[in-house]
Amino acid sequence: MTAPVLPADSPEAIARAAALLREGGLVAMPTETVYGLAADAGNAAAVARLYAAKGRPRFNPLIAHVSGIAMAKRLVEWPALADALASAFWPGPLTLVLPKLADAPVCDLANAGLDSVAIRAPGHAAAQALLTAFGGPLVAPSANPSGGVSPTTAAHVSDGLGEMLDLILDGGPCTVGVESTVIALLDGRATLLRPGGLERDRIEAITGPLAIAGHSDAPASPGMLASHYAPGAAMRLNATVAQAGELLLGFGPIAGDLNLSPTGDLAEAAARLFAALREMDAAGPKLIAVAPIPDEGLGEAINDRLQRAAAPREMP
Ligand code: AMP
Ligand code: MG
Repeated sequence: MTAPVLPADSPEAIARAAALLREGGLVAMPTETVYGLAADAGNAAAVARLYAAKGRPRFNPLIAHVSGIAMAKRLVEWPALADALASAFWPGPLTLVLPKLADAPVCDLANAGLDSVAIRAPGHAAAQALLTAFGGPLVAPSANPSGGVSPTTAAHVSDGLGEMLDLILDGGPCTVGVESTVIALLDGRATLLRPGGLERDRIEAITGPLAIAGHSDAPASPGMLASHYAPGAAMRLNATVAQAGELLLGFGPIAGDLNLSPTGDLAEAAARLFAALREMDAAGPKLIAVAPIPDEGLGEAINDRLQRAAAPREMP
């Protein structure tokens, strides 16, 4: 049976979701980045169910979502740089990896046994309401089968994981549309682990130049699998025209069969990216070709997702 879908702006739906989470349930929640598959971060049985529902490799640590700085301080050490970044960008699409406190309400399975935890305060009213009602951290990876295209609407969640969940909160389409930027604040250094919905230059205005973790840097950023976000069709990047059997995803003046942003607006393109990949994939092309996206601002996150969607498949 597929999970019920309730409106995320309903207080009754939030109360129901919080009650399900307290019982170890799985609830899909809207965030500004993508839809998250939420579970109680401190409940190992719930987190094990979450990994099983996604078919996710166990070594991928999860992001613990918090309502804000006060809740974050119950989970991790909190250096001045964390305070500066969280004060500037939370709630919002920025995840910070920090040393885990011994008594943090995050089970070892949730952070894959590392001595650090990734935390983020999401900037969506429903996610905030749910975190406040629940009163503790919620792990919430993207609410889709592992390796596939991330969900940016409740219908995407229902299509991919409906049977595995207890409840889906429908908060409308995600406004940012790509996952959070992940920064590690460990050993006194700030390192970019994953480009995302907060532009790197806005972070560097506070941190100074970031160290960059390579994709091969598996222990530092275990979620950075080469193949991820993959649609059913193969992908070809930096294309200007579609060849036989291909559909072209356009950007700016390269119109394509579907255009991420006719005006060349990277924020609009990020918000539409995953829904556009799903829509094109549904037409069953042999290959999805994608127009070049400038590698600046949010283009860094868009190109990261496209490169991994196009990478040779290594499904878990
Ligand atoms: P997502 O699957 O979108 O929730 O992404 C989680 C991201 O955060 C992945 O890239 C993980 O590798 C990264 N991450 C989570 N926890 C940690 C951690 N403790 N150390 C390093 N990276 C982490
Ligand atoms: Mg994901």
